[in-house]
Amino acid sequence: MAKVLCVLYDDPVDGHPTNYARDDLPTIPDYSDGQKLPSPKGIDFTPGHLLGSVSGELGVRPYLEGLGHELVVTSDKDGPDSVFERELADAEIVISQPFWPAYLTPERIAKAPNLKLAVTAGIGSDHVDLQAAIEGGVTVAEVTFCNSISVAEHVVMMILSQVRNYLPSHQIVLDGGWNIADAVSRSYDLEGMHVGTVAAGRIGLAVLRRLAPFDVHLHYTDRHRLPAELEAELGLTWHASTDEMVPHLDVVTINAPLHPETEGLFGDKLLGTMKRGAYLINTARAKIADRDAIVRALESGQLAGYAGDVWYPQPAPADHPWRTMPHHGMTPHISGSSLSAQARYAAGTREILESYFEGTPIRDEYLIVDGGALAGTGAHSYSTAK
Ligand code: NDP
Repeated sequence: MAKVLCVLYDDPVDGHPTNYARDDLPTIPDYSDGQKLPSPKGIDFTPGHLLGSVSGELGVRPYLEGLGHELVVTSDKDGPDSVFERELADAEIVISQPFWPAYLTPERIAKAPNLKLAVTAGIGSDHVDLQAAIEGGVTVAEVTFCNSISVAEHVVMMILSQVRNYLPSHQIVLDGGWNIADAVSRSYDLEGMHVGTVAAGRIGLAVLRRLAPFDVHLHYTDRHRLPAELEAELGLTWHASTDEMVPHLDVVTINAPLHPETEGLFGDKLLGTMKRGAYLINTARAKIADRDAIVRALESGQLAGYAGDVWYPQPAPADHPWRTMPHHGMTPHISGSSLSAQARYAAGTREILESYFEGTPIRDEYLIVDGGALAGTGAHSYSTAK
């Protein structure tokens, strides 16, 4: 019997929903690059229901208990007295979502001798110390592509809301006001701007595709260059590095994983090379940006706006400076946890668990670490040392 420890975010404050805004989810075909949607042998949840919070349990309890395994679900994840830390001691599998990450530090991995598998119900496994997982023989898997489009849609929304000054204008309405001059004095058209992505993987490329009809100039940098036909189709300008790209841009969107190459990338130095009044959108990981340098750049006007949904740590403390800095459009970490995305990553989690318990290979594209090394998607997109 295996113990499965699942860390999920808290239920809504007024309890787990009993009805929903919509009755169903649209059917989507396989992913745009041909990758198959999650395909478990079965599911025990209703797509479109809230699965990512504690009562939703990612829909995995009937399956796991049917096989005689133990499932512990908690949102209490931080500190030595947390349920997570206590239950980790004899857990074989840990499941957690990046939105409410169960940080698997080297110390915690060392305290979990039975740990074999860390599943990220979502994308981005930087909450697991990958080097420690490699050394500890822990397999790390995530549900690649499950919420890439969800995030890309959020990025487009945030770019438009920043450039057009949507949030302050909406606030004027909530406040009973009508001062158009206040609303428009920071409002621009996106048309004609230079917009670039740091990384053109699943999310970055989807952002570029979605922005192409806005008649903007599109730029990207990535460790691997996109096919020439795609560059021509979307009118992309490729840059060899982030440093070389950002001085040309009005809008920068970060879509790279957090790993040693990207940690702290957007500090005072790089921000200082950007055009005055550029916008920075970060839905990738907070630590790719220097927290206080972002605040300084907004206060000085070097950045006209910053938006995103990723923070460090998560949950962000009440006094986190990004809550109160000027001209920001931050949300909690939600972009990849729409009800649509949850249905996919709950199914993907079930698929990974089925592979694990049946002793069949976990899909290569889901693997980040396996067999004591970066593997699958992890080997392509991550690094472990500076
Ligand atoms: P992919 O693996 O498809 O793409 C990541 C891309 O980043 C790859 O093209 C990779 O390049 C590129 N890359 C890696 N390092 C660098 C670097 N130093 N400079 C430039 N490019 C680099 O992942 P996704 O697009 O699906 O997701 C990207 C990230 O977004 C995730 O790792 C996660 O952190 C974040 N995310 C956030 C979510 C949210 O809810 N806010 C939800 C989902 C993801 P190559 O492979 O060519 O080497």
